[in-house]
Amino acid sequence: MPAYVESLRRAVRAPAELLRRLGLDRGETGRARLAAAEKAGADFRLLVPESFLARMRYGDPDDPLLRQVLPVGEELVASEEFIADPVGDGAKRAAPGVIHKYSGRVLLIATGACAVHCRYCFRRHYPYADEPGAIDSWRPAVEYVAGDDSIGEVILSGGDPLMLTDGRLAELLAAFDAIDHVSRIRIHTRMPIVLPDRVTDELINLLTGLRAKPVVVVHANHPAEVVGDCAEALSRLASAPVTTLNQAVLLRGVNDSVEALAALSERLFAVGVVPYYLHQLDRVAGATHFEVPEAEGRRLVEGLRGRLPGYLVPKFVREEAGEPAKTPLA
Ligand SMILES: *Cc1c(COP(=O)(O)O)cnc(C)c1O
Ligand code: SF4
Repeated sequence: MPAYVESLRRAVRAPAELLRRLGLDRGETGRARLAAAEKAGADFRLLVPESFLARMRYGDPDDPLLRQVLPVGEELVASEEFIADPVGDGAKRAAPGVIHKYSGRVLLIATGACAVHCRYCFRRHYPYADEPGAIDSWRPAVEYVAGDDSIGEVILSGGDPLMLTDGRLAELLAAFDAIDHVSRIRIHTRMPIVLPDRVTDELINLLTGLRAKPVVVVHANHPAEVVGDCAEALSRLASAPVTTLNQAVLLRGVNDSVEALAALSERLFAVGVVPYYLHQLDRVAGATHFEVPEAEGRRLVEGLRGRLPGYLVPKFVREEAGEPAKTPLA
């Protein structure tokens, strides 16, 4: 059994354990924090791997990594503008597991599972149970891509596609790699960030062994994520060679400062990863407290431009239902 499977099994799932490990369960404040986490985490449960937990600061209730994963009472605040499917993916389902929204690219919901549960996730209410499981049930998706030669890129997303075993992943990748007009295969994953053990030699061989060019888009939001075992895993991936990019989400209380965003770009580049997107938060139910107004986001990106070379400034974008591409905001 690969080491990462064991790491995943040992991931923290109980709010009480997470708070105890960080020394945040004490006194009245601690008890209130725990009660809120248990209530807010009832539907979309807490999940955080040890490696990610190890990068949080002990005793700091405002730690930017903790804020991304700890359920809080604010999630229960209802808002008419924060809804279950804010990006309109449900309407763009071209075949089981396939979202064909943009020209030339399709996105596959490879699995609903993730190695971490991010509280701001726009897919937290996605009906994953409706998507294919076994490789046989991917046949309509493969046929859909094979039948449309305008599709040059297949994007494995989810959930987190690296939650699939190497065997399942190899089968899925091979099926799309065999289609001549597919020249790039992209994987959207947070596992190299939250569970770096997943970046095994076997995985790297799988990706570099494809006919199509492999692209991996990871998801880190704060510079404190890109250290230690995570930095090492990204370095191995990027030097494999696999084109490795990062997408971040602009999050209140996590990375809403020029300092945090600039340091994130610098750290990523130091390990061979190029900043790709900075996403305006999708207005998903339960995430109101993470929103940073767009105008403030634009000012932050201006600040980055004043500090960094152009290639280290991510494209600031928003996902809009019905648009042919992500909408640039700055
Ligand atoms: C973001 C996204 C893509 C990829 O867009 P790029 O701009 O190529 O990164 C593809 N399909 C869907 C549905 C998406 O949301
Ligand atoms: S890893 Fe990605 S898909 Fe999974 S919960 Fe986090 S943001 Fe959502």
